Amino acid sequence: LVSRFVPFPLGMKSGMAFTLEERLQLGIHGLLPPCFLSQDVQVLRVMKSYETKSSDLDKYIILMTLQDRNEKLFYRVLTSDIERFMPIVYTPTVGLACQQYGLAFRRPRGLFITIHDKGHIATMLNSWPEEDIKVFLRELARILSGSEDPSSSLLHMASLPEYGINQSTNQSHSLTNGCRETLSFITCSPMFLSLGVLTQKGVTRLLWEGLRERRFVSTSNYPLNYRYGMNCLIQFEDFANANAFRLLNKYRNRYCTFNDDIQGTASVAVAGIFAALRITKNKLSDHKFVFQGAGEAAMGIAQLIVMAMAKEGISRADAISKIWMVDSKGLIVKGRSHLNHEKEMFAQDHPEMRTLEEVVQRVKPTAIIGVAAIAGAFTEKILKDMAAFNDRPIVFALSNPTSKAECTAEQCYHLTEGRGIFASGSPFPKVTLASGQTFFPGQGNNAYVFPGVALGVIVCGVRHISDDIFLTTAESIAEEVTEEHLAEGRLYPPLSTIREVSFKIAVKIVDYAYKNNLASWYPEPEDKEAFVRALIYSTNYESFAIDNYRWPQAAMHIQ
Ligand code: NAP
Repeated sequence: LVSRFVPFPLGMKSGMAFTLEERLQLGIHGLLPPCFLSQDVQVLRVMKSYETKSSDLDKYIILMTLQDRNEKLFYRVLTSDIERFMPIVYTPTVGLACQQYGLAFRRPRGLFITIHDKGHIATMLNSWPEEDIKVFLRELARILSGSEDPSSSLLHMASLPEYGINQSTNQSHSLTNGCRETLSFITCSPMFLSLGVLTQKGVTRLLWEGLRERRFVSTSNYPLNYRYGMNCLIQFEDFANANAFRLLNKYRNRYCTFNDDIQGTASVAVAGIFAALRITKNKLSDHKFVFQGAGEAAMGIAQLIVMAMAKEGISRADAISKIWMVDSKGLIVKGRSHLNHEKEMFAQDHPEMRTLEEVVQRVKPTAIIGVAAIAGAFTEKILKDMAAFNDRPIVFALSNPTSKAECTAEQCYHLTEGRGIFASGSPFPKVTLASGQTFFPGQGNNAYVFPGVALGVIVCGVRHISDDIFLTTAESIAEEVTEEHLAEGRLYPPLSTIREVSFKIAVKIVDYAYKNNLASWYPEPEDKEAFVRALIYSTNYESFAIDNYRWPQAAMHIQ
């Protein structure tokens, strides 16, 4: 099976870590250099080569090539220093890798589906070499020109050629950071719906590895579930927001599915807000939110905030009255044109307003959340106003990549005199103010969410993923933030602890699922921590030596 992916299958395993016995038994003795290395030494060798690269894209390519060669070693390197490698295999470098996929491409990973395959997906799934798939990461691989479909773009770089393929692959890396994945219990497969391209020119067009026509592919989940069972989790993302909302509403109660852009983002943002409440020392319903952006991320976050406020005991209508949204046409108010069903829900009874500055002045929010990919939208005036209205203003600049952030960490801390409670989508370095105070900005990264959710859902066989699960996840992430973290400005646990965070999320979900009759795995495990822990991915090599043993001499005597 493996050899269908890699011509030299043994590269997938342990390379020079194969013992002499394994080499002899596998018939590869002589095909590897004559030395034997431990995994620790292999990590050192990879790091030596990694350190020779100065550009992030080159570092990304080194790691991807390693994954192709030796997956266990790849994950061992990744988990040895997650804070260091995450920005390379995930946002922001993954954005760059998507843009330059044609150049960075080494070998295919995942299943590629086009409009011409409609009705034949079951046949394509038969080509897939893994039998036991537990999670599908389903996304659009596409190239767009900004003018054609500005509402749909991977990591919001709509005006550039994009190669979404890398994003799903990298989500599977992040899944592994937190939970057990490929080749073992949770087998995780990237799947790409190729939307195609019309608009590139010249070399870019030549390098594009997808369709050269642009048509939307809407495929049913049925063939996936037919082959891999109804418990197969389908995580989808990077669909234009109207399609994402439509597909989520259509499928959420029919399949085991979630949309990371809507629900994963919501969960991580609300986790940051929960942590911020320990600084502002009040309740969620004491806050007033202004969103810059009213798309997938904003709606997901707003809806989860409403749920969390309702849990505090206020009515849904009161909760909604505390959420104000600004889209590309200005403040979302009742009776305004261009309101879809989701926007209608948050339309305020108020005269129209055009700019974010006006809205902030008028509403005097306690928190502003940027999810419109408009760089610099949190202007000096807005940040100073927030500092004037609030003792501890909450400022979340969640847009990715870094170049699209609404403000930098430095701007926020300086302009609010160190009182701003800041989180961003892409990582920012620490900031030291003239006072000597140092802040470590929190990164509101979905990677805190989906590995734990996937693990929890899969291990106990949750059939439908309710929004409660994302609220439970947000609470779980916030609980991992210590007082020391808060004092340093961190609203999230350090990325280096992401595996432990994911484990705790999974245990909480399993617990919640059994209490609420959502689990389909029986019998209910007595020790849920041990149950989940047993399924965490291990980067240790397995032995490939065949079971070699002897009977007593007398029993083996040839008569
Ligand atoms: P989306 O669904 O396309 O929504 C974008 C929203 O921004 C739309 O409501 C759009 O308005 C609005 N907008 C565009 N120009 C605007 C302007 N000049 N002023 C105010 N609003 C404007 O995109 P999305 O999936 O929500 O993602 C938005 C951003 O959030 C991206 O940068 C993405 O990287 C980031 N994000 C971060 C995370 C994280 O983990 N940190 C997760 C998900 C997304 P219209 O509705 O009028 O078009």
